[in-house]
Amino acid sequence: MDQQVAAYRLLDGKRCSDSLKERIAIEAAEVKLMRGRAPHLAAVLVGDDGASRTYVEAKVKACESVGFRSTLVRLPATTSEDALLARIDELNRDPELDGFIVQLPLPKHIDADKVMLFIDPRKDVDGFHPVNVGNMVLGQPGFLPATPAGIVELLRHYGVATSGKHCVVVGRSNIVGTPVSILMSRNAEPGNCTVTLAHSRTRDLASITRQADILIIAAGKPEMITGDMVKEGVVVVDVGIHRIEDATRKSGFRLLGDARFSEVAAKASWITPVPGGVGPMTIVSLLQNTLKAARQ
Ligand code: NAD
Repeated sequence: MDQQVAAYRLLDGKRCSDSLKERIAIEAAEVKLMRGRAPHLAAVLVGDDGASRTYVEAKVKACESVGFRSTLVRLPATTSEDALLARIDELNRDPELDGFIVQLPLPKHIDADKVMLFIDPRKDVDGFHPVNVGNMVLGQPGFLPATPAGIVELLRHYGVATSGKHCVVVGRSNIVGTPVSILMSRNAEPGNCTVTLAHSRTRDLASITRQADILIIAAGKPEMITGDMVKEGVVVVDVGIHRIEDATRKSGFRLLGDARFSEVAAKASWITPVPGGVGPMTIVSLLQNTLKAARQ
């Protein structure tokens, strides 16, 4: 019997990010020559959440791989809001530091919005400060939020046509869904899409996702998008990442996205794997923002 050949192609974030990192490493060396020091990123981690620690460690490791300096600021879960703001004030003023991120989520007693507002927008390499969000909306220079910027970069890398397409985004969070809907509708390439933003109050989601030429899923619900919810030829960007217990695996878990991969991939023209899709692109965008901050 003929072996079935997969019709879809992978939007391989690992491969794409590796090639972008080669370029970043060259530019980091140039910055070091010009300024006498390498680009420097700090990450603030409050508390001991396992997933947050993994994300932060991956970011620090990525810095090392491109010749950046990195600093991990670890604070106990009991840190008061005032103490965290005082630490951020130091980072804002540190002339040896180009940019920093405060890993979310923060402990419940800390107001994350207040913390974000306190970060100097010139060092806000996560692109969460209202000044950077405003610049993104207006198409002005600034730092783009890492995950949405990484998604756009991935589509660019693989030459996925976006102009005039119907892009459906599922999820309206401030860090993924809402900003990516703005980037995809901008008069830019990739961009120029007609965008529908679906969320938890959307009625008959499947009838909307079935209209998508490009479907970006950031709902945080494992395998919620099934094969019957997409049309043939759709381009799928799955942002979701979920650790599911699996006793058959050596690690004890497997990673799932927001799409049921086998069913959705069978109809897709392009699809991101989970893991190895959006995750590595998020990290590379953070590196790009840090490089930009170091050049300013
Ligand atoms: P969030 O929980 O802040 O937002 C989820 C959004 O999905 C909400 O706006 C909600 O309205 C919408 N939603 C929930 N259920 C829905 C439903 N049944 N139908 C339609 N919309 C629904 O999540 P987030 O921070 O945007 O993250 C989303 C997912 O992406 C999570 O799994 C997260 O772990 C992952 N994530 C991955 C990366 C990465 O780099 N790979 C980065 C950020 C987030």
